[in-house]
Amino acid sequence: MTFIQPQLNVLPDYHEHLKVVLLGTGSPRAFYGRAKAGVVVLAGDKTFLVDCGGAAVDQMIKAGVMPQRVSDVLFTHHHYDHNGGFFDVFITSWRTHVTPERVFEGRSTPMQVYGPDTTREIIGKMRESFEFDVKLRVSYNLSDEAGSQIQYIERNEGIIYDRDGIRITAFEVDHRPVYPAVAYKFEYNGKSAVISGDTIPVPNMVKYSDGVDLLVHEAYNKEWLDSLIVTYPEQARALSNPAKYHTTTLEAAEIARQAGAKHLVLTHHIPAPTPDAAAEEAYMAGMKEIYSGPITMGRDLMVFDLAEA
Ligand SMILES: [Zn+2]
Ligand SMILES: [Zn+2]
Repeated sequence: MTFIQPQLNVLPDYHEHLKVVLLGTGSPRAFYGRAKAGVVVLAGDKTFLVDCGGAAVDQMIKAGVMPQRVSDVLFTHHHYDHNGGFFDVFITSWRTHVTPERVFEGRSTPMQVYGPDTTREIIGKMRESFEFDVKLRVSYNLSDEAGSQIQYIERNEGIIYDRDGIRITAFEVDHRPVYPAVAYKFEYNGKSAVISGDTIPVPNMVKYSDGVDLLVHEAYNKEWLDSLIVTYPEQARALSNPAKYHTTTLEAAEIARQAGAKHLVLTHHIPAPTPDAAAEEAYMAGMKEIYSGPITMGRDLMVFDLAEA
């Protein structure tokens, strides 16, 4: 019997230190090698998924994070590039995965879904649309019915999780017209990480990222977008939209400087540069003059182990 054995590259079940895995670093457009938004945060025996763009499950498999480990999904906001993969995450995490060496038990408890106000309404409607499939899995595949449920924790600001030494704090950002939208701060074993979600520069980001070990911040490159507008003036409206509700690379550097973040990681690149050093260096132009700490251009499947930071 020879078939793909995902356990060969599966990350350990327990993480003594906070670990952050970038699933997708692209934008709402589809790019080869830059999947849509998704970040996995590992702490202790918990696996948190922050946003789930369309390829979230496939990216988790590539990263060695079996979807069956995910029982907590945190949404920053409800643009499709952040929630489009939820159906797949929900069902896949619920289904048991059997390999010759190991059984990955599917989720047997309700999925915990966190997010700003609007989350229950939007994800609840998605969940209703899964009912046909869910019913079949309960009646025909005998999947555990408890795992087909969702418990919602809607919160725009404040501590949303505080157990076993893991603390997660939500705080409001500004991604209008998408309102509300939040970012998340994770704290575990003396280390911290902030995941910005999508936002313009906001004082809250500086406040909550004060001295943070890892700041994963979205950013677009203004010069690159402006040059596209010159090339395609008829597309000016679509191309200039990111400027209204996102953060420029230079602004992200300024936020990291003001917050005293120890390491800045860029994600949600607009336009998405090819994942090579030259393109990424050009994308980051000017940032080092503003922020003197380490800056990493996020690539899909990058792992940040905060024990080593
Ligand atoms: Zn967005
Ligand atoms: Zn987005």
